[in-house]
Amino acid sequence: MQKILRYADSHTGELISDLQLLIRQPSVSAKNEGIEKCAKLVQKILKKSGIKSEVIRIGKNIAPVVYGEVKSKSNPYKTLLFYNHYDVQPAEPYDLWDDPPFSGRVRGNKIFGRGSADDKGELITRIKAVESFLKINGDVPCNIKFVIEGEEETGSAHIDQYLKKFKNKFSCDGVIWEFGYVDSKNRPVVGLGMKGLLFVELSVREAKRDAHSSLAVLIKNPAWRLIQAINTLRDSQGKILIKDWYKEVKPFTKTDLKLLQSEPFDANAFRKEFGIKDFVGNKKGLEAKKALAGAPTCNIAGFVSGYAGEGAKTVLPGHALVKIDFRLVPEMDPKKQVARLKKHLKSKGFDDIQIKVFHGEAAARTNPSDPFVAKVKQSADESFGRSIVNVSNAGTGPMHSFVKILNAPCISIGSTYIFSRIHSPNEFARIDLLKKTTKCMCLIIDKFGRN
Ligand SMILES: [Zn+2]
Repeated sequence: MQKILRYADSHTGELISDLQLLIRQPSVSAKNEGIEKCAKLVQKILKKSGIKSEVIRIGKNIAPVVYGEVKSKSNPYKTLLFYNHYDVQPAEPYDLWDDPPFSGRVRGNKIFGRGSADDKGELITRIKAVESFLKINGDVPCNIKFVIEGEEETGSAHIDQYLKKFKNKFSCDGVIWEFGYVDSKNRPVVGLGMKGLLFVELSVREAKRDAHSSLAVLIKNPAWRLIQAINTLRDSQGKILIKDWYKEVKPFTKTDLKLLQSEPFDANAFRKEFGIKDFVGNKKGLEAKKALAGAPTCNIAGFVSGYAGEGAKTVLPGHALVKIDFRLVPEMDPKKQVARLKKHLKSKGFDDIQIKVFHGEAAARTNPSDPFVAKVKQSADESFGRSIVNVSNAGTGPMHSFVKILNAPCISIGSTYIFSRIHSPNEFARIDLLKKTTKCMCLIIDKFGRN
């Protein structure tokens, strides 16, 4: 094992240059920019590391999945699957970047670029870990599978279909999730869950076109209408007021609560990073941690109506639109929640409001007592010195599909520094964390292979 870790440690140069290759190939799923090219590049990098791969497809205009596989000669009985994605968020606004977003510029301990952390940096650590075993031993301690998708940043619309169609091909005993956070004190977070998401658009049309605002005495303003409607969805403390919204919510177990209590949370650093004075509902300590791991949300993602440009324009808009995202927790069913939202608006007299559902996915959590958790935690402790176990991430990913279809525990662990500006200008990955994560992945593979 020492030889393998030494190999991983002494090949940082290649890790960086391969990551730069990936960053320099834009792969913006939202704009279908460079997706096919990036899938091919991922294959090339896998091949160079000794990992067999193929590009699999389920239809036209659907980003392909790059599937990689290494069969273990010494232990073909256990399989570890790495789930990652090769697509990235759009880089806009370009003018806020210090370097071009697809440059992969290295400055000191940081490598900059869209995708440097999310998710190309994470992907490269998994690949380099497998390469270390292959180069030193010519074998891996368990079967390795890679499922690398190209639509994660637009909501993984087809991962469910891929998993169902290739259920046997992807079958495994454990999944390492596409990312993992490292907190401000350099402790990696072993994440056991992801929240679900329901994304909707509510809109109202009143007059068939915008009007002079002097007519506000006669023509109803759809922006007011929409504001009145959304004001019934949630109270000022963040509680959602839709009937039965929390009905299926599974309370934290005793083990969950213990983990939450021991989980560090630096409220001051958090507030400082975002420049805010206090939290929703003035939450403190444990309440804030419980909310991050297990509270549903109702968030206004955008509101569009009338004129919001420079200066004044006295206009009465004919149309108003709001985009809302609801985070879901176990065992909330997105379909049921949509029905409840519709019923709520109707019962409050807002049946003129159009509802468009963009996305719905359920939450998932891995049982903290699963033996896989201890193996990952030990690996993280060995490679980083210490680690934190997190009951659930506050964000969303298609973890539920993996848990449900592959019937395998999923754990997120990785190299993404918590303030590495993912989805924002000047996104970066820290080279020290990429190195530690590569070694952590080696240790996970090793421990997973043993019974
Ligand atoms: Zn992302």
